[in-house]
Amino acid sequence: MPRERVVHPAVLIAYVLLALAANSSAATAAHWTVVHQPASLVNGTPVLFRVTTPKPVHTLSGKWLGHEIAFSFDAGRKSWFALAGVSLETKPGSYAIDLQAETTAGPTIAFEKKIRVHHQRYPRRVVPLAVPGHFTAPSPEDLRQIEQDKETKVEVFKTVSPEREWTGSFAAPVDAEISDVFGSVRVFNGSAQRPHEGLDFRVPSGTSVAAVNSGRVILARPMFFEGNWVVIDHGQGLLTLYLHLSKFSVKEGDEVSKGQPIGLSGGTGRATGPHLHLAVRWQGVYVNPQVLLQLKLP
Ligand SMILES: [Zn+2]
Repeated sequence: MPRERVVHPAVLIAYVLLALAANSSAATAAHWTVVHQPASLVNGTPVLFRVTTPKPVHTLSGKWLGHEIAFSFDAGRKSWFALAGVSLETKPGSYAIDLQAETTAGPTIAFEKKIRVHHQRYPRRVVPLAVPGHFTAPSPEDLRQIEQDKETKVEVFKTVSPEREWTGSFAAPVDAEISDVFGSVRVFNGSAQRPHEGLDFRVPSGTSVAAVNSGRVILARPMFFEGNWVVIDHGQGLLTLYLHLSKFSVKEGDEVSKGQPIGLSGGTGRATGPHLHLAVRWQGVYVNPQVLLQLKLP
C-alpha cells in the first residue's frame, strides 16, 4: 500500500505560484526578434533584416553603423523588412542595431541587439595595365569632363527615396560567368588600386542587360570613366549601377521593372574590353552584388 504523502501547505502555495508565473509568461511570450540574412555578416555585404515586435506597431526605424534604416511591413509574414549594407572598410566587431517603433496603442518601444561583423579577405591580383593611354594621362578637356562627372555622381549618389521599389529577390542582369569579383584589389605597376567596387560579368558587346529589380532610372548618360552608364534607384537608399554599356534602352526618369532591358553591354569608358560592371550602393556604401543576388527577399 503506498503511503499517503503529506504535502506541506507552503509547498503547495509555491507550486501554485510557479504555475501562475509559467502561465503568465506564456501569455506574454511575444518579444522582439531580429534576424538577418546572410546569417554570417562580413565587411562589404548587403544584409536583409527581419524584425518582429512584441506589440503591433505602425512604424519601425533603425540605426546601425551610422545609417538610418527604413523598414517596411510585410503583412503576410507579419514581419518588418529592411535592406542595409556593411562597408568594405568596416572593422570586425559587434555593432548594435537600435530599433524604435511606434505602437498602434501610442507609446514608443525600443530594442537594441548586437550584430557581429566578421572579417572577409578579398582577393589581390597583379594585373597588367591595359587601358588606353588617355585614361591614365587625361587631356584638359578630359579633366573638365571628369570634374563634371564627379559633380553628377555626388548628386546621384545622394538619392534616398522614401519608398521601397524593389520586390522579391534580385535577378542577375545577364546570364554570364563572373570575370572579376567584388572587393578584389588589382595591383598595377606595383601599386594597389582601390578595391573593385562591383561585379564583372564576361559578356561580349551587344548583350542585353536587364534591371536587377524594379525602380526608377535616375541616370542614363555617357561618363568619362564609367562609359555609358545607367543608375537605377530602388528606394530607401539602394541603387544599382550598370557600366560600360554600348547602348541605352532607357532614359532618365523611366520606371523599370525587374528583368526589363535597360541597354546593351559594351566596353565604353575605362574598360580593358567588353564586359558588364554591376555595382550596388546602399546609402553611400558599395556592397557585394553577388551576395545581393543570392538573398531570398520578400
Ligand atoms: Zn568591374
